[in-house]
Amino acid sequence: MTDTLDLYADVSSLPYVGPRTTKSLNRAGIFTIRDLFYYFPRSYEEYQAPTNIADLTPGKVTIHGRVVSTSNRTARSRHLNITEAIISDGTDSIRAVWFNQPYRVKQLEDNNREFIFSGNYEFKNGRYQLTAPTVKVAQSAKAAKNTKTAKTAQITQPAKTPTAIHNNPSKNPDESQITESVYSAKSGLKPADFRKLFNHLRPEFAKIPDLLPMTEGKPNFVKKNARRSALFATHFAEDEKEIETARKYLAYEELFELILAAELNKKEAHKLKATPIKYDDSAMHELINSLPFELTKDQKTAAWEIIQDLGKKSPMNRLLQGDVGSGKTIVAAIAAYQAAKNGLQTAILAPTAVLATQHAESLQRILAPLGVSIGLLIGSTKQKNILKQQLAQGNIDLIIGTHAIITDDTQFKNLGLCIIDEQHRFGVNQRQKLLLKSPDGLAPHLLSMTATPIPRSLQLTVFGDLDVSIIKEMPKGRQPIETKVLSDLHMRESLYPRIREELKNGRQVYWICKTIEDSPTQETISVKKQAEKLETIFVKNRVAFLHGRMKPAEKDKVMEDFANHKIDILVSTTVVEVGVDVPNSTVMVIMDAENYGLAQLHQLRGRVGRGKYQSYCYLIITGENKPTRRLRELEKSTDGFHLAEVDLKIRGPGEIYGNIQHGMLDLRVANLSDTDLIAAARRHVKVLAKDPEIMLKYKELEHNIQRYQQLTTLN
Ligand code: ADP
Ligand code: MG
Repeated sequence: MTDTLDLYADVSSLPYVGPRTTKSLNRAGIFTIRDLFYYFPRSYEEYQAPTNIADLTPGKVTIHGRVVSTSNRTARSRHLNITEAIISDGTDSIRAVWFNQPYRVKQLEDNNREFIFSGNYEFKNGRYQLTAPTVKVAQSAKAAKNTKTAKTAQITQPAKTPTAIHNNPSKNPDESQITESVYSAKSGLKPADFRKLFNHLRPEFAKIPDLLPMTEGKPNFVKKNARRSALFATHFAEDEKEIETARKYLAYEELFELILAAELNKKEAHKLKATPIKYDDSAMHELINSLPFELTKDQKTAAWEIIQDLGKKSPMNRLLQGDVGSGKTIVAAIAAYQAAKNGLQTAILAPTAVLATQHAESLQRILAPLGVSIGLLIGSTKQKNILKQQLAQGNIDLIIGTHAIITDDTQFKNLGLCIIDEQHRFGVNQRQKLLLKSPDGLAPHLLSMTATPIPRSLQLTVFGDLDVSIIKEMPKGRQPIETKVLSDLHMRESLYPRIREELKNGRQVYWICKTIEDSPTQETISVKKQAEKLETIFVKNRVAFLHGRMKPAEKDKVMEDFANHKIDILVSTTVVEVGVDVPNSTVMVIMDAENYGLAQLHQLRGRVGRGKYQSYCYLIITGENKPTRRLRELEKSTDGFHLAEVDLKIRGPGEIYGNIQHGMLDLRVANLSDTDLIAAARRHVKVLAKDPEIMLKYKELEHNIQRYQQLTTLN
């Protein structure tokens, strides 16, 4: 009878993990047994089978041998320390040479040991030598290998016993490659420390319990002991194929947990109650007839999907995706108007004061004539108390603001709908605060809006609990932005004339720089330097700059002046990235464009092309540099959805959504472009989630998915 491990037990409860190791592990963020077993190798190194010294031919070689003698000297003419060793393996001997590695002498002194040397065997200065080889103690590698073969029998599938390996005549285990796991050093723990520790813990792997339910709908590779085999293989892989099999299982595990978390969140959300917002048909027509344009088909569909959700007794949890300029604001206005007609208040949260102000202005234009009372609550709002009082009394139907809305003393009379613009800029905690502001026992309907398209694979996993509406079609008359990658060497002839032309026609220009001030450590051109330069080039035009270190009031003033065309060229950091709407600007210049992510460049580009004029985006790269793949993709496409897919492929979800959005999404194995695996996990989860008590049976799973549940919890 084997005992099983509780993976959530303290790591110190493992054998060989004493107080000192525990302390080091804790410093590296490893607290539980699970944390340790899931600390995966960064990579694997292959050691070649050794060659007899007598048989060596020039090139990269590996030999096993003992050190016969060592010497160390300094070459006087050059500042060079030379270590030499004579190595013998019984067939012959050979000279090895290292430069400026005097510590080698000590390492090699133990001439009872056998070492593995890998390096270049070459003819130099009239004789053959092994140049600067890597050195490993052979004993440990061999021992590890032997132990491994023995242990493998316990935990891998029966088909692959050691006997099977020995019986294979083409594969003599003594001659095969040795694969060694390479760990990242962490908080004082060296890669070798991890390797040593795992080696000690080999027997423990056989006690790892299964995690995933063996229920209907599971794929074949999810079977008894699959988990311990996968974890074992991850740390002690023997070959490529084993690593692949392990990866597949572990990736599945991650996806399964993500999808299950989303599914359970969705179930939880369905239990919440909201005040249904009854559809008011005449109000809808009133609003639509008041618009100077006709809604696009996608806008209509999105509005309709939202209206249907609003009518339900459980809160809406919908994400409205639409590229910059696709017209999400009007859809939000429709929802807010419906709420107002039902006597419910709406809160719209924007990520910046500038954006909140713009929203307030455009919504004022659309909704005020229809009798909706609108308030703006940002840091600089005067007489906040009066506004808050009105909000608490229910005299304001629609409040637009930044974080100030969710400070603790803001109260609503009857909050029925929350709309969050650029939702990825709000943390989960902030969202939850807002949701606490609705009447007792009721959750507000929630609409998140984003211009950062979320690829379908992410929608099915990370955002699986959200319903989604998509606006793909751009309003009529929009001309695609012409995008060009340009070297900074050619700005004079290729860029300045275009800008002169646009300025002459009364248009405006954005000019994005990476840094605020020049610094000796940065090679990028700064906002201030660029602004000075442009003043000397476009002497008749008004140049101003904007950056995040300016006071909020100063920033707002500059933005306002730009919006009112008191500024022609706005040199700025990426603070203008989000949402600002100045339809008269037609040129976006992005300096040092190599430094930005695809999504961010697309977002920046979206600041132009918002009016009726043809617009241009110039991605400036340094000197003779070649355009990166993402810059070329931007040149080719203005489709945010396509670009998001490309971005996901280039960078992976961790970087896009992990840091920026949540700081919690940490997919270490799974690849979100693996649609087959995602589909399989969805099938499996769907069957499982039908059982309301399911989590009671899978304690560890319940524990694991908590972090994901927070990640996607909106209600
Ligand atoms: P975003 O999706 O980036 O928030 P906005 O809602 O700010 O886009 O809309 C961008 C511009 O397009 C606004 O000036 C808006 O008035 C205009 N617009 C929205 N819908 C339409 C439409 N169906 N036809 C023409 N113009 C539209
Ligand atoms: Mg917008």
